[in-house]
Amino acid sequence: MRLSKSIKIVQRKTPGGRTVEHLKKERFSYTLCRNCGAKLNKSRLNPKKLSKVERRSERPFSDLCPRCMKKVLKEMVRK
Ligand SMILES: [Zn+2]
Repeated sequence: MRLSKSIKIVQRKTPGGRTVEHLKKERFSYTLCRNCGAKLNKSRLNPKKLSKVERRSERPFSDLCPRCMKKVLKEMVRK
């Protein structure tokens, strides 16, 4: 029986040797900005199901949010 797409049935062995079925819910981790901690886009999806290009943005400083990237770029130019 399939309950939901986000819930998986996993076989787990108990210390007594029995094999039981456990329900496991998929966990999503948010990709956060390295500087301010804001959530980046496409982060609600499971990162393992996305391709490498979809996991991060393709602009420079892909681990920063657009606002932090703007600040960093401005500082680089001023120096
Ligand atoms: Zn940021």
